[in-house]
Amino acid sequence: MNIVNFGQCPACRQGTLVAVKCIDNNQLLLMCDDCESQWPSPEAARTFTGSLQEECHNIIDAQIEDIVSTGWTIPVQG
Ligand SMILES: [Zn+2]
Repeated sequence: MNIVNFGQCPACRQGTLVAVKCIDNNQLLLMCDDCESQWPSPEAARTFTGSLQEECHNIIDAQIEDIVSTGWTIPVQG
């Protein structure tokens, strides 16, 4: 499993937030698979604050190890 699901997008309320990694700066992000809003952390997405003004366009799927090492809590999948 590569895609890690962080729940519903707070911006469009239709898409799913998935963990991705920006390969420009190696930063972990959440991105909506529908509207493509990007968030710097699960906390930012949950509180609907601080969506990225400058979105990263060079992204890859984040790996579980990346997420754990960044200190994010992975939600129960499913
Ligand atoms: Zn969305």
